[in-house]
Amino acid sequence: MVSIDTDKERIYQLLNEIPDPEIPVISVTDLGVIRKVEWEDDTLTISITPTYSGCPAMKQIEQDIEKKLADSGYEKVKVKTVFTPAWTTDWISDEARERLRKYGIAPPQGSADKSLITTEPKVVPCPQCGSRNTQLTSQFGSTPCKALYKCLDCKEPFDYFKCI
Ligand SMILES: [Zn+2]
Repeated sequence: MVSIDTDKERIYQLLNEIPDPEIPVISVTDLGVIRKVEWEDDTLTISITPTYSGCPAMKQIEQDIEKKLADSGYEKVKVKTVFTPAWTTDWISDEARERLRKYGIAPPQGSADKSLITTEPKVVPCPQCGSRNTQLTSQFGSTPCKALYKCLDCKEPFDYFKCI
């Protein structure tokens, strides 16, 4: 008889193997979207909080979770979406931010605290060379979650994971 807690640990490990559909170097647990893992009678319920509203990746994440757990022998799995409190980039782990940078995506800068958001463009260091001499090219990069920047030193364009 496996205890519920041991089982939960195993489930978290499985979830940790599911990559973000848009950024394969970070997992859905790194991203901080997994809120709760619990048993409701014989159904394994995973609560998730969407990242950016309308982010098409969320549907994919839901399906990936269901598939991963079904493949591992969990027959009844329910993915529940929880909207409050709203997800913020503050939930991305430090280790995942470092992996983002190595992957070539500038991680979110500073806190997502709404009261601190200004219209001033903030300094986003280049993930390739570390230069702070960068420029916003477009509010929308390869996906709506990212903005496109250009490094004025190494001349490389790069994605910036927007802070929310
Ligand atoms: Zn650079």
